[in-house]
Amino acid sequence: MDKSEESLRRKQLIELLHDLKQHLGYLRSLGTEYLPASPTKASHPGLTLTDVRRELGDCTRCKLHKTRRHIVFGEGSENSTLVFVGEAPGEDEDRQGRPFVGKAGQLLTRIINAIGLSRKEVYITNIIKCRPPNNRNPQQDEIASCEPFLGKQLEIIHPKIICALGTFAAQTLLTSDEKISRLRGTFHEYRGIKVMPTYHPAFLLRNPQRKKEAWEDMKKIQKEYSK
Ligand code: URA
Repeated sequence: MDKSEESLRRKQLIELLHDLKQHLGYLRSLGTEYLPASPTKASHPGLTLTDVRRELGDCTRCKLHKTRRHIVFGEGSENSTLVFVGEAPGEDEDRQGRPFVGKAGQLLTRIINAIGLSRKEVYITNIIKCRPPNNRNPQQDEIASCEPFLGKQLEIIHPKIICALGTFAAQTLLTSDEKISRLRGTFHEYRGIKVMPTYHPAFLLRNPQRKKEAWEDMKKIQKEYSK
């Protein structure tokens, strides 16, 4: 960038900041005391999950389309207060086109029921909508292709709480590289929505001694849910 271009950009930035300041002053004069930290449902008026599913279509945006059987978009209530986000579909989910229907899914259903809710009352989805071959970890380009759709799902549902299931979901939503054992147990934030990371149900099946901690996390969710 040469000097004249740099000074033009700086001038444009100053003008933009000036306009922004004036606009905020105007909003304050109307009685606005704060701005939402994230886009809310109002930023996509009338847009529904069905619209987002239609936009996703028979997706070929990443290589996972070559090996998947079904896209696993998500299921549950569009008006849910609580959304569970897992990693990616496994074999059972790929076969049925529904999230968390295998062994780990059965445990997730029991966990949801244990806090007094049913699967229909919450929304369940994954970061990645297609099964990675042999359940390998999702790759960066796959996450990049898929994440905007999760973003739209969460924007439309705009839940009060997101429960991030496992390392991958928690690290992706929170753009963190902390271990799940450090992230779990406290609320974090994703675009203004509270996020409680907890252990993935598949991990709990392999490490039942960690269920106690997961239950502590779920009790915090339950408390926040009923506030
Ligand atoms: N594991 C996940 O992370 N998601 C599913 O849908 C199933 C298993």
